[in-house]
Amino acid sequence: MKIYISGLYCGTNPQPGVGIARSLRTAYPDATLVGVEYSNRCSGVHWQDLDDVWLQRPWEELNLDAHAAQVKKVLDAGGLWISSIDLEIMWLGSVFPDGHPNLLTPSLSALQKVSKPAITAHKGLPVKIPTFVTTEISDWDLHAFCREHDWRVWLKGPYYEAVKVRNWAELEAMRGILSSAWSTERLYLQTHVSGYEESISFCAYQGELIHAVQMRKRDLTELSKTWAGDIAEVSEEVLAPLRKIVKDLNWSGGAEIEMVRDPQNQLWLLEVNPRFPAWIHGATIAGHNMSALLVEAATGIRAVETPFISEEFTRVVLEVPVRPEFPLSPLPEPLAGRIGHSLKHPSGLVQFANRLHNLDVFNYENENETGGNGEGQNGGTPKSASLNVPESFVDDLTHFDLAQVETPSWLFLEQTAAGLFEKAVALAGELSTDDITVTNAYSIKTNPDERLIKLARQSGFLAEAISLLEVRKALDAGFNSNEIILNGPGKWWHKEKLPETPLYSVFCDSMEDLTRVCEEYNSGNLKTEILGVRLRTPNISSRFGIPIDTPDAFGKLIEAIKTLPRDTRFGVHFHMASSNVGVGQWWHLFESMLKWCSSIEALGGRTIEVLDIGGGWFPEDLQKKSGERFRQAIALVPDFLPHVRQILSEPGKAVAQPSMALAMQILEIRNSSGEAREAVVDGSIAELPMYFFYPHRILSRDRTSGKWKSLNRGKTQLLGRLCMEHDIVANNVELPEDAEVGDVLVFCDAGSYDRSMSYVFGRG
Ligand SMILES: *Cc1c(COP(=O)(O)O)cnc(C)c1O
Repeated sequence: MKIYISGLYCGTNPQPGVGIARSLRTAYPDATLVGVEYSNRCSGVHWQDLDDVWLQRPWEELNLDAHAAQVKKVLDAGGLWISSIDLEIMWLGSVFPDGHPNLLTPSLSALQKVSKPAITAHKGLPVKIPTFVTTEISDWDLHAFCREHDWRVWLKGPYYEAVKVRNWAELEAMRGILSSAWSTERLYLQTHVSGYEESISFCAYQGELIHAVQMRKRDLTELSKTWAGDIAEVSEEVLAPLRKIVKDLNWSGGAEIEMVRDPQNQLWLLEVNPRFPAWIHGATIAGHNMSALLVEAATGIRAVETPFISEEFTRVVLEVPVRPEFPLSPLPEPLAGRIGHSLKHPSGLVQFANRLHNLDVFNYENENETGGNGEGQNGGTPKSASLNVPESFVDDLTHFDLAQVETPSWLFLEQTAAGLFEKAVALAGELSTDDITVTNAYSIKTNPDERLIKLARQSGFLAEAISLLEVRKALDAGFNSNEIILNGPGKWWHKEKLPETPLYSVFCDSMEDLTRVCEEYNSGNLKTEILGVRLRTPNISSRFGIPIDTPDAFGKLIEAIKTLPRDTRFGVHFHMASSNVGVGQWWHLFESMLKWCSSIEALGGRTIEVLDIGGGWFPEDLQKKSGERFRQAIALVPDFLPHVRQILSEPGKAVAQPSMALAMQILEIRNSSGEAREAVVDGSIAELPMYFFYPHRILSRDRTSGKWKSLNRGKTQLLGRLCMEHDIVANNVELPEDAEVGDVLVFCDAGSYDRSMSYVFGRG
C-alpha cells in the first residue's frame, strides 16, 4: 500500500499532512507513506512517519501538465492520494473531472457547492449562515455594511481564506491582496459571530459517509487556529442531513465543517474545507482514525484498530531531525541591510491561484451575491450603478461653473445642506413624545462654516461648542447664549471669551472640570440652565468623560454630584461615534448607559432631566428605517429615567458630511501599460484627510451628454499632488475611457472633517 499525502506545512497555521501521516502510520504500520510538497521549507517533509518525500518545483514554476501525468501514473499504479492543499484539490478536480478511485479528494462540482459564504450544500444541517455581501457592491455600501455590523467583519476569498478587517484602511488593503491572490473582485464580507468555535470533520468515499467527529476548540492560536480541543460523537440530527449531502455531492475524501456556536446555542456555518483539518490526529487520539477509515473504504484493506486514549488533545512544538537529503536553506542574503527570516507558507500558493485562474479552474458563478440568515441583510447597489449619490448633489453641482473654479476647490452643496437640516428637524419632531422632546444641536467643530451654522440656527437647532471661541462664533452667527451647549475638555481655553449671559448647558469632562465649573458657577462667572456630566463609556475605551467603571470612580462621581448647584437642571452626556464602533454596538451602549444613569440618579440624589447622546453618526445611519431604532431607544428611556424631559442629539457629520464636495482636476494620466493605472490630480489628502476612514463617492461628467456619473471600481489609483507616499486619494477606481488632463473630478461626502481638518500644504 502506497499513500501520497500532500500539504506538510507545519507553521502556526499548519496543514494536516503530518497529522494524516501519523494517523495512517498507527493504522497501517507497513504502508509506504510518501509526503508530497512543493517547497523544502515546509518543515513537515522531515517528519519521521514519511517513508519518502516527493518534492516538486514550487507552484509558480511547476509544469502542471507533466505533474498531472505523474499523478495519474501514481494513481493508476494503485497509489492513493490524500491532498491537504485547497488549491491542489481544486486543480486535481480539474485534472480528473470524473474522479479516480484512488484520488481521495472531492470533485470540482462538489467543491463549488461548498464554496463561498452561501454554501449551497448546507441544506438540512442545523446551522445558519452569517450575513454577508459580495464586495462587488460599491465601497459606499460596503462601508455601510461594516458600520451596521460593528466592524466585526471577515473578508473572505471566493473559495477559502478569511481575514478579519477592523476598519476601512484594513479592508481596502486586504481586499487588494485577496483580489490579486484570487484574481477576482468577487470576494465576500461576512459578519463575525461571537461564540465558541467548533468543527465537524467527516470522511466519505464515492458519496458514502464513512464517519464523522465533532471537535470543540479549547485553546486557540493568535490566528484562531486550534491549539487544543476535545472530540465528541456527532449527533444523529447532524449525521442524517450530512449523509444526504455527501450522497448528493458524491463526496470523496476528508472534510471539515467550521462553525461557531453562539451564546443562544445557535450554530453558524463559517466554512466547509474540502480536506481533513490540521487537528485530525486529535481525533485519532480519541479513537476515531478518520484517515484510516477513508483508506479502508477506498481499498478494502483492514486497518489496525486505533485505541481510544483521550477525548482531549493539545499541541506541542517538537524538534525533529532534518533529513540529510533536504538540508536547511542557506542563511538569507542580507538584502538592503536587512536579514529576513520568515515562517510564511513558502510554496507560492498565490502564484498558483493566478495560474489556476488563467486555466479557468475557478468558476465564479453569479448567484448568491448577498445573503445569509442573519438579521439586517444589506443588498446594496450593484457596482455598475451610473449614479450612486442623491439627486440633490447633482442639482447643486449645476450651480457651479467648474471650468472656472480654481481647483482643488470646496463646493458647498446648498440645497443638499438645507435638505439635511430639514430632515434632522423632521426626525427630531417625529421622535419627540408627549413627555420627551428631542432637540438637535449642531456640532460646530465638525464644520464651522458660517453657512452651516446659519442653517442650524434657521432650523431651530441649538449650537454645540467645544471651546469658547466656538461659542463666540455661534453668538456672531446669531445664536443666543442660552441656545449654546458647552462641552469638551478645553472649555477654559480663552476663558476671557466666556459670555456674561447664561448658556443653555454645560457638561463637565472630568472631576477636575466639575470642581472648576462649580466654582465658576458659584462665583457667578459662569451661568447655565443645565449643568451636567459627561460619562466615560465603560467597555469601549475613550479619553473623554468621567470614568464610572470602578466602584471607587463611581463613588467619587456620586459624591461630586451631590455638590452640584441646586438651581440648575441636571443632565448626563455621553458620546461615542457610532461611525467608528458600529451601529449595533452604539445602541447596546445606549441601553447600558441608561442603566448607569439610573444608578447615578438613585445614588446621587439628583433627577436626570436631560440626556445628551452626542453625535458621531454617519449621515445615513441616524435616519435608517426612518429612525426606527432611535424611536425604540427613546421608548426605553422612561423605564430607567422617568424624569428625562429632553434628549439632546448633537449631529455633526450626519448633517455636514454630504454638504460639501471637493472638485479637483486631473493633472496627468499615466498610460504605461496601455491602460491608465495611475493618474495625478491636483487635490490631495491635505483636502481629504478622512480619505483613510471612509470611502468618498466620486463623480465625473460625461463628455458627450454632460451628465454626472459615479466612478466605478477599477484598477486606477488617483495620486494626490503632494510629494508624500501616502497621498493617494483613491485606490481603485475606473477613470472614464475618454478621461483627459484637465477634467474635473468631484469628491463627494467631504463636508465634515475633510473640510474642517484640511490643512495648507505644498502651496509654497
Ligand atoms: C464632535 C462632537 C460631536 C459631533 O460629532 P460628529 O462625529 O461630527 O457627528 C457631538 N458632540 C460632541 C460633544 C463632540 O465633541
